[in-house]
Amino acid sequence: MDLSFITHTWWGALLFVVACGHITIMCTSLYMHRSMAHQGVKFNPVISWAMRFWLWFFTGMSTREWVAVHRKHHAHCETEEDPHSPVIHGWAQILFFGVNYYRKAYRDPATMERFTKGCPNDVIERKLFMPHKVWGILILLAVDIALFGFITGPLVWGGQVLWVPFWAAGVVNGLGHTIGYRNYKVRDASRNLIPLGLLLSGEELHNNHHKFPSSARFSMRWFEFDMGWWYIQALRLIGLAKVKVVQSGAADFKERARLAKEAAIDRVIHAAVAPKIASAAVDA
Ligand SMILES: [Zn+2]
Ligand SMILES: [Zn+2]
Repeated sequence: MDLSFITHTWWGALLFVVACGHITIMCTSLYMHRSMAHQGVKFNPVISWAMRFWLWFFTGMSTREWVAVHRKHHAHCETEEDPHSPVIHGWAQILFFGVNYYRKAYRDPATMERFTKGCPNDVIERKLFMPHKVWGILILLAVDIALFGFITGPLVWGGQVLWVPFWAAGVVNGLGHTIGYRNYKVRDASRNLIPLGLLLSGEELHNNHHKFPSSARFSMRWFEFDMGWWYIQALRLIGLAKVKVVQSGAADFKERARLAKEAAIDRVIHAAVAPKIASAAVDA
């Protein structure tokens, strides 16, 4: 197959950036978020390692740091302790500078001490991924220049390394607590954004996720599409993933419909009986 269009056309280069960005978001969602932070799914070690390496190479993110900041967000959502609450700091701050809030949070030793239980702490994490975050993205820059040349190469690289800071730290953490619809009344301001599966791999269903944080599946209604869940299903089919916790949207909405029906019946009974009780009291 002739793939030279990727390095020889502007749209090929753009397609390459989007494809890499999609894999990066997918690895963040599946490995760091659903598996490590919330333990909703467990992957075969080869898959975990591949995703962990990809994330270091394309973003410079360490699993321990990402997980610590994210668990703290759930534990202290929309308070001064929340590392990146748009309710506290304003949505524009989180959308455009969310990565700065993320960095500030993982530099706090107390956060790292308290929220990293169960995270990888092997020699690769301690000697390479954490202290040498930029090595991966610098090698990536060299690869991009070799593939695309000195002008397009750095542009491709910029798109690749800014993908997570914008789409995850910015859009999910900022807009996912600001605009969109809510399926559930939760104590925080989380919302579901419009379907952005290709860009966000299901992370856009943020209100569903805050309601059921441990569920490996984020979609709860028939029109919601969680692309990450379908990747998990595919990996499960070939024996490379085990789902630990899953919340069924259908079961949840069936239960809510049952409760609503009971409440409606109660209201009808109350409306029929209350006037009779009142008139009996007047007669007496
Ligand atoms: Zn959130
Ligand atoms: Zn979460």
